[in-house]
Amino acid sequence: MSLHTAEQSVAGRAVPGQEDLAGSTAGRSAVPVPEAAGSGRRAAGPPKIAIRDVGKVFRVRGADRPFTAVEGIDLDVREGEFLTLVGPSGCGKSTLLDLVAGLTAPTTGRILIDGREITGPGLDRGIVFQQYALFPWRTALDNIAFGLEAKAVPKKERQDRARHYLDLVGLDGFGQRYPHELSGGMRQRVAIARSLAFDPDVLLMDEPFAALDAQTRESLQEELLRIWEKTNKTVVFITHGIDEAVYLGQRVAVMTSRPGRIKQVLDVAFDSREGDLRADPRFGEYRHHIWTLLRDEVAVAQEQERTIG
Ligand code: ADP
Ligand code: MG
Repeated sequence: MSLHTAEQSVAGRAVPGQEDLAGSTAGRSAVPVPEAAGSGRRAAGPPKIAIRDVGKVFRVRGADRPFTAVEGIDLDVREGEFLTLVGPSGCGKSTLLDLVAGLTAPTTGRILIDGREITGPGLDRGIVFQQYALFPWRTALDNIAFGLEAKAVPKKERQDRARHYLDLVGLDGFGQRYPHELSGGMRQRVAIARSLAFDPDVLLMDEPFAALDAQTRESLQEELLRIWEKTNKTVVFITHGIDEAVYLGQRVAVMTSRPGRIKQVLDVAFDSREGDLRADPRFGEYRHHIWTLLRDEVAVAQEQERTIG
């Protein structure tokens, strides 16, 4: 299945000006009680995604030793959950997402969706990358319809469904525009609509808003939460922004520096999401807790980057 492979080569990287792990300051109050790493909530039913002792080793040409990107990853994602994943740059976040997407195979361990082991990419999982991986020669609507062609949906239904998802991401009226005629935020909306159009159970998002300006990012975060509530998707969302992780996630999984492992999984709960969530004292507490968890990992990761390049 070639649906996502063209997009996969796009590297996810932070952009200047965005709030970054290393540069964050944080609130100072009591630390919320974290969950043990890898444990699912006391949920009924099996997890939607089960990551079991997963490791990924790359053999790099010219290097004498194999390169371990992630190791011993254990994580359950519940059906309908919005899970965010944070970790220092280079810790293996994208590697882990690619494994769940089935774009690469784990070296050790297993990943199961609905109890079945992943053997490759599938239309049960939609992926959204940082860069707008749209086809420049297709209009917004035709980009959204793309996945439906792969699914052999008849033309009329393809168009109707593409239009439905175009509306859902707030781009009513922009269907005939080509990607270069859309703003960055709009293109990313199209990318989200395209992933939703073939109705996957799981949405895998790799720093999808990292390249956007702060205002556009915030409005897309809100949109995404609205869409998630409406569609009941299971979402795994990678970010290097602590605020973004806390704002979006029902749980936040924090990774160690490379080789990446799950350091802790934190439950995030607010009494109400009304008003400015970021001004809620608990927001600051979660933020500070995650910042503390990451501080040492970021230092290690930076040292690794200096020594390994
Ligand atoms: P993150 O997304 O957390 O920034 P990545 O998952 O992209 O990190 O990368 C983790 C580590 O694995 C990095 O050091 C990266 O250079 C390395 N890596 C990723 N993909 C490959 C590959 N195909 N071959 C060799 N090394 C890789
Ligand atoms: Mg990445």
